[in-house]
Amino acid sequence: MKVSVNKDCIGCGACVAIAPGIFEMNQETMKSVVIKQPKTAEDKDLTKQAVEACPVDAIKIKE
Ligand code: SF4
Repeated sequence: MKVSVNKDCIGCGACVAIAPGIFEMNQETMKSVVIKQPKTAEDKDLTKQAVEACPVDAIKIKE
């Protein structure tokens, strides 16, 4: 699984709240960035939850 955040991010913070080990808010751009690719089953599950929670569909997963 490879996760990325695209330019559509509006900085709502949902993904960071759900998976703080995977996403972090960039304090300059106020957009989410991926800080670690999910490796464990738990991290992958949290990443999928973040994808579903994103209001603008800015998080993309490649299997
Ligand atoms: S949930 Fe989506 S819009 Fe909100 S911070 Fe994360 S990537 Fe950006």
